Amino acid sequence: MKHIKSMTVQEIEAVLKELGQPAFRAKQVFSWLHKGVSSYEEMSNLPNALRQILTEQYPLYIPKILRRQESQKDGTVKYLWQLEDGNCVETVLMRYHYGNSVCISTEVGCKMGCAFCASTLAGFVRQLEPHEMLDQVLFAQIDSGAPVSHIVLMGIGEPLDNYDHVLRFLELVNHKDGMNISMRHISLSTCGLVPMIDKLAEKKLQITLSVSLHAPCDAVRDRIMPVNKAYPTEQLLDACRRYYKATGRRISFEYAMIDGVNDTPESARLLIGRLKGLPAHVNLIPLNHVEESPLKPSSKQAVARFQKQLEDAGIPATVRRSLGGDIEASCGQLRRTHERRE
Ligand code: SAH
Repeated sequence: MKHIKSMTVQEIEAVLKELGQPAFRAKQVFSWLHKGVSSYEEMSNLPNALRQILTEQYPLYIPKILRRQESQKDGTVKYLWQLEDGNCVETVLMRYHYGNSVCISTEVGCKMGCAFCASTLAGFVRQLEPHEMLDQVLFAQIDSGAPVSHIVLMGIGEPLDNYDHVLRFLELVNHKDGMNISMRHISLSTCGLVPMIDKLAEKKLQITLSVSLHAPCDAVRDRIMPVNKAYPTEQLLDACRRYYKATGRRISFEYAMIDGVNDTPESARLLIGRLKGLPAHVNLIPLNHVEESPLKPSSKQAVARFQKQLEDAGIPATVRRSLGGDIEASCGQLRRTHERRE
C-alpha cells in the first residue's frame, strides 16, 4: 500500500527502517495516524527530523467536508467528503441506544446497476483505498464528537468488488493500536458476488455478512438486480449456506420492500421456502424512493403482512427503522444531489 495510512504497523516499520529509524517508532506513527492527526507536527513523541521527512515523503490528506447535514429529528449526521483527487463520497453517522454507528462508502460510484439505488445512477468511478474508508470513520467520529462503536459497509459501492482494500480496512480499523473496533460490530453488505463470498468465508471473520437479496426468485431479482444474471438466487443462497458453515455466523438478508414488485404474500411464501434450513435474519427496508426511479415503497400494511408471514414461519424479520429521512440520508442520495447541482 502506497499511502502511509493504508499501511499495517509492519509496513510502516519497513518504511521507517529505510529511514534508519528503530522499530518501536512504527507503533507510535500508526497510533497517531489512527487518532486522526492532521499533520506530522502533532506527533509530539517523534524526532523533529523524522516528522520533516515523513511530511515530505508521505504527505497526509484530511478529507474535506463539502456538506454536512444533521437530522433535526434523530441526530443522524450525513457527510459528503471530498477526497484527495476531488471525488466525493458520503458517510452517515447514526445514533442508537447501543452506540453510534457509521455507514461508510467503499467505492466512488457503483457498477452493480440495481434498479432502485441512487449510487449506481452516475456509474462507477473507482475503488476507495483502505485509508479513505478509515478516514470516513475517524473524521465522522472527530467531527460529531460521538465515539463510533459500530460500522456498516452499506454506503456507496460494492465492498466485495473492492475486496483487498476492504479487507485491509477491516484489519486497520480493528487494530488494537488504532480504532480497535470489534469485528463483531462490523457488517458488510453485498449484492451477492458469489466467488467473493466464498473467498471471504475462508477468512472466518467475526463480522456480520449482509446479503442484499430483495427478491425470492430469479424472475423478480433479474428485474431489479443485474448481478442476478451472473449469480442467480439459488447459487447465491448456496454460497450463503457455505458461508454459514465456514464461519458459524448467521446471515442477515436485506429486503427492500417495493410496491407490487416483491411484497406480495406469494413472494413471502417463496422466500420462506428458499431460506429453509439457513440460520438467517431478514431486514425489511421500506424502499427509499429515488427520484429517477419508477419504483415505489410498499405500503405499511404490505410490510407488516410480509413480516408476519416470515415470523409465523419461524424466520426472524425486523422492519428497519428509517433514520435521517429529512436529510437524504440513504444510498448515494447526497452525492447525487451534489453532482446535479454542480
Ligand atoms: N453494494 C452493497 C452495499 C451498498 S447498498 C449491497 O448491495 O449490499 C446498501 C443497502 O441499501 C443494500 O441492501 C441496497 O440494496 C440497499 N438500497 C439501495 N438503494 C435503496 C433504496 N432506494 N431503498 C432501500 N434500500 C436501498
